[in-house]
Amino acid sequence: GRQFFVGGNFKMNGTIKSITDIVKNISEADLDPNTEVVIAPPSLYLLVTREHLRKEIEVAAQNVFDKPNGAFTGEISAEQLTDSGIGWTLTGHSERRVILGEQDDFIANKTKTALESGLGVILCVGETLEQRESNKTLEVVTTQLKAVADLTKDWSKVVVAYEPVWAIGTGKVATTEQAQEVHASVRKWLAANISQEASEKTRIIYGGSVSEKNCRELAKQSDIDGFLVGGASLKPAFVDIINARA
Ligand code: 13P
Repeated sequence: GRQFFVGGNFKMNGTIKSITDIVKNISEADLDPNTEVVIAPPSLYLLVTREHLRKEIEVAAQNVFDKPNGAFTGEISAEQLTDSGIGWTLTGHSERRVILGEQDDFIANKTKTALESGLGVILCVGETLEQRESNKTLEVVTTQLKAVADLTKDWSKVVVAYEPVWAIGTGKVATTEQAQEVHASVRKWLAANISQEASEKTRIIYGGSVSEKNCRELAKQSDIDGFLVGGASLKPAFVDIINARA
């Protein structure tokens, strides 16, 4: 079986004080030992987050650059993350795709560089409402995945996060059927385009308005291997989401 995986994406929220309080609360909570937990604070707070979490809980950057070092003002490299004890990064979050204009090939390059540096990568994919309504969901998601697959076939440290853009921060969670359907399709795509092993082993997690109320039903679906949580990861209820399968 695949280990259940729950990520908390704090996005651009928090202060030294509030983040310290939140991560201490998570660190001291009674967590399902079968769930892998990864916390993604703003980059400025990666180290303070690492410092206050028990060692089994991992820390992720929300973004990474695709070059190892050099004149790239404002960017952080994968090597700098590993040097700082950060084991994971997100790539391709829809807020970076939509608001910052990141394209598939750039995201794929970042993902490849991060994997080559030994980071685990939570690769985010997902369609907009307009794309869903014109029946382009699978086309959009597989195009986003293919850009990465074109550069690397080693998906052993990739977690795919399916985050429909229309469900992010809207309170409008995908139905269990909608999520399960896309997750199953992603798994089929992995079998056809990466390997049978990648299809069986890759965690495919759901993100978009996950709460302590809807997480248990979603977690029962056979192809939903966890969650990427935004707003609710800043609240005490995040612990209930981590424990959705307990
Ligand atoms: P919300 O849980 O706030 O909808 O955000 C989801 C998300 O974008 C996680 O990366």
